[in-house]
Amino acid sequence: MNAQPKFSDGERKQLLDAETDGRFPDPRGRFGPYGGRYVPETLIPALDRLEAGMREHLHRDDFQAELADQLTNWVGRPTALSYAPRLSAAWGAHIWFKREDLAHTGAHKINNALGQALLAQRLGARRIVAETGAGQHGVASAAACARLGLPCIVYMGAIDMERQAPNVGRMRLMGAEVVPVTGGDQTLRAAIDEALRDWVSDPMETFYLLGSAVGPHPYPYLVRELQAVIGREARAQFLQRHGSLPDAVFACVGGGSNSIGMFHAFIPDRNVAIIGIEAGGRGPGLGENAASLSYGRPGVLQGCYSLLLQDDDGQIHETDSISAGLDYPGVGPEHALLHTAGRVRYESATDAEALAALQECSRLEGILPALETAHALHGAKRWAKDHPGKHALLCMSGRGDKDMPTLQRTLLGSGA
Ligand SMILES: *Cc1c(COP(=O)(O)O)cnc(C)c1O
Repeated sequence: MNAQPKFSDGERKQLLDAETDGRFPDPRGRFGPYGGRYVPETLIPALDRLEAGMREHLHRDDFQAELADQLTNWVGRPTALSYAPRLSAAWGAHIWFKREDLAHTGAHKINNALGQALLAQRLGARRIVAETGAGQHGVASAAACARLGLPCIVYMGAIDMERQAPNVGRMRLMGAEVVPVTGGDQTLRAAIDEALRDWVSDPMETFYLLGSAVGPHPYPYLVRELQAVIGREARAQFLQRHGSLPDAVFACVGGGSNSIGMFHAFIPDRNVAIIGIEAGGRGPGLGENAASLSYGRPGVLQGCYSLLLQDDDGQIHETDSISAGLDYPGVGPEHALLHTAGRVRYESATDAEALAALQECSRLEGILPALETAHALHGAKRWAKDHPGKHALLCMSGRGDKDMPTLQRTLLGSGA
């Protein structure tokens, strides 16, 4: 059994200094001990091509100008920073929301989908493949591809297609081809494998648009760069409105894209506590949750060395969460590093805690959050108890309309 690796205080400080100075990922794509590229030989040329193209274009002025223009005029950025007066009164600390739920297609995922689609266009790709679990990344990819006139093929587990029929319809209306994946577990993991297979068969013409800060290098870095706009905007907006930085920053952690996007700008601000909230599911037992950082151990999943939920034989374990977007046994390598280095604290919220927080936020603020986001809300509520009068800034990663079938079953009673 591999326990989570132990590091001395000195080693942890070195890791955090390297992260803060932007020395990670290193040339091998590693964030300290995590990350890298654990893939079959056949994938290496495609990843090399992607990395070279990314390095050439991503930070060039003309690319950034085009991205900024689309983010402003199509996505709707900057998204608002909302103070939450009634939740603040109820919880005892000041609660602020960075409103990614107001971004086009209803969540932060569009920031990444648009950025990668623009990069694909620069690299001369003729078709885009993407994976999706609950369908949110598939919808964002379909929208970005429609906007740019790129054909989009979305691999989706057959079971997920049944569970998320409205999102399948949305993708198809925006012109995407949705391909059912009937192999493996017929859910997200199988869909990622299938998308990778497609990409390897035609790496020159195809671009793989990956949906979270996971997978082999350079994806965790690329996705972070595209999502970091969340924290950059939020930090500046908060400073302008409040005159100083928040005391704590919160986000929910699935694969880790909205959270790394929110956290990244705050890593050097050592007086700001950073707290990520994972899916605690039904409880702490293996198979009952999706809290990879809280309960996971090091291992390789889908091309990346990180913390994973696995059994004593190293078999990836099934996960459980009420929110499909957090229901993944792994987590991005940069989070594993931030956990190890002690810069970010990772906690979890159970299904029941998330549902209660969702209800409170909806009633008191007129904002129906996504079930994923509701986990972060519970984390902020728990923190508020011990920090009266302090300021918490939370990434409202998405809106909850997509979760209505689950909410009908749980909070409203099926007849409602
Ligand atoms: C997909 C999703 C998440 C989880 O994904 P991350 O990559 O961890 O951000 C969280 N919130 C919403 C609204 C989502 O759609």
